Amino acid sequence: MITSCPRCATALSTARGAEPWCPRCEWGLAAFEPDRRHPEIGWRWADRATHRIAWRLNESQFRALAHGPLAPRTFTMARAAIMALAVVMLLCVAAAAAAGIWLITYDFPRLTILPGVALLGLAVALRPRFPGPGEAQVLSPEEAPELFALIERVAAATGAPVPHIVGVDSSINAYATAVGIRRRRVLVLGVPLWAALDPQERVALLGHELGHFVNGDVRRLPLQTMALTTLGELASLTRPYLPRGSGLYDLIVGAAQWVLFRVVRALHLLVVSLSQRDSQRAEYLADALAARAAGTPAAVRMMDMFLVTDALETVICREARARRAGAAWREAADTVRRNLAGSLPLLRQLSRREEASLFASHPPTGLRAAMLQCRPHLPAEVTLTESQSARIDEEIAGPMEQARRDLAAAH
Ligand SMILES: [Zn+2]
Ligand SMILES: [Zn+2]
Repeated sequence: MITSCPRCATALSTARGAEPWCPRCEWGLAAFEPDRRHPEIGWRWADRATHRIAWRLNESQFRALAHGPLAPRTFTMARAAIMALAVVMLLCVAAAAAAGIWLITYDFPRLTILPGVALLGLAVALRPRFPGPGEAQVLSPEEAPELFALIERVAAATGAPVPHIVGVDSSINAYATAVGIRRRRVLVLGVPLWAALDPQERVALLGHELGHFVNGDVRRLPLQTMALTTLGELASLTRPYLPRGSGLYDLIVGAAQWVLFRVVRALHLLVVSLSQRDSQRAEYLADALAARAAGTPAAVRMMDMFLVTDALETVICREARARRAGAAWREAADTVRRNLAGSLPLLRQLSRREEASLFASHPPTGLRAAMLQCRPHLPAEVTLTESQSARIDEEIAGPMEQARRDLAAAH
């Protein structure tokens, strides 16, 4: 077994039991380690190939953005291709609906009613959809005035519009999205994540999420959303059924379904991977706005927090089972971060191997922190004091207790 780098003789390092690599010249860092529980495409050679492509794309995107302009792009080939595909699919769905209605009503009643109903059913199953805000509990400005005031300050600093809906849920996460046919802006904060962050990191989190309202994200545009959800729907409609009989008819239908399913799924994966490149770029742009609102150091700290979310989840759930929440979560998170501070450089490197994927919506966490450090360091435009931060915790005490119960029950 090799213990030192064949290129620069530095001792190899590892973290979390991964294949070792050279922490100095990064020899071996790009190695592909198949995740057997979550294969991406299912064939090992294909997973290896897509990992290599994703690695190269990640690294070249990083170099381009770290040393060049970090501005949103209004036009990309990927966006144009997805738009064209969405229009074609929309027309096909409309044509299927029209043909279905024609077959049902033409010289009624006739046997053509059967294919007519089938076509109409297909069109209904593939119709464009605009999902709602999900499970999040919606907050009103009266319930949480301090939180809404902070959101307004961060929005002003980043040039973002304020969200129409602010919600909280029990996840160690946060997201910004647009819902419904009117594309109303939604911001959802996972209470456990929020509670684990220090005040300035909370500003960074808001800066990042609101940043998604400033920068175009491919999945949010209605037509593109439609292309992705309709293709996904089509893929699950064509998924071969089991069990089947063994007659010739079953064999032929099974083979046709198999081919159709692979083709649709390949197309879906292609569209997802195209849109994810755009999406990764949008994450870097949102990170830049996080740094503008909260200052570079707080934005980097928040990013590094995402390198240790496994450990964070463990301690937060432990506290939740012990009936502790809020301040106890932040203390537990601080302990985790102190204990893992020494391994952060290695975890940042390892994230570039483990998170390299054509289907990842986010760039590797380690690259996001490095990007912030490469670019000019920014002072904080919004500061949140400990007492303001504590008042927000009081405002969300109800959802906090709910999150505590959810986490205690789930683990
Ligand atoms: Zn080396
Ligand atoms: Zn984001």
